[in-house]
Amino acid sequence: MRIRKLLGTAGAAALLAAAVSMPVGAAEMANAQLKDSSGKAVGDVDLVQTQAGVLIKLQIKGLKPGEHAFHIHAVGKCEAPFESAGGHFNPGHTHHGMMSGEGHAGDMPNLHVPQDGDLSVEVLNPEVTLEQGKPNSLFDSDGSSLVIHAKADDYKTDPAGNAGDRIACGVIQPSGANTVGSAPAAAPAPKK
Ligand code: ZN
Repeated sequence: MRIRKLLGTAGAAALLAAAVSMPVGAAEMANAQLKDSSGKAVGDVDLVQTQAGVLIKLQIKGLKPGEHAFHIHAVGKCEAPFESAGGHFNPGHTHHGMMSGEGHAGDMPNLHVPQDGDLSVEVLNPEVTLEQGKPNSLFDSDGSSLVIHAKADDYKTDPAGNAGDRIACGVIQPSGANTVGSAPAAAPAPKK
């Protein structure tokens, strides 16, 4: 009787331990390696799920100075000249531009690249999520990518802000917490 009870407790403890060690959420973090049309690496982007949206930490190296549109595109495929990435990530089927009265979930502020071509910046996108299964998930069936354009986004012209050629592209891929140096050792479970 006593032994049975002990076994029962041990069994329950084992189950609990298994539940705790299961990965929290499918993708709390993601990464994209930006490359230009010649295949040269021009940027490294970490994406972190937060309560307020997806925090996008961007480090650009050796990009042409000036203003550049920066968007999330609908398809996770970067083949130069990057038309493969599709249009802007737009699960709401709205018109482009934060000054148009609508805007795509993938629309974000322009990047201002200084003369030396290097830029570190963080952008919060509250319209998207890394959580799979949600309508605005960046991990939908065909994935998503980050794209930098040759020109600035005018924030209103449909469908892409008159931003010109796509000069850099990176597929957004799930990444473990251990690939990001500044990440906490154990991320808390997301609030439902
Ligand atoms: Zn757009």
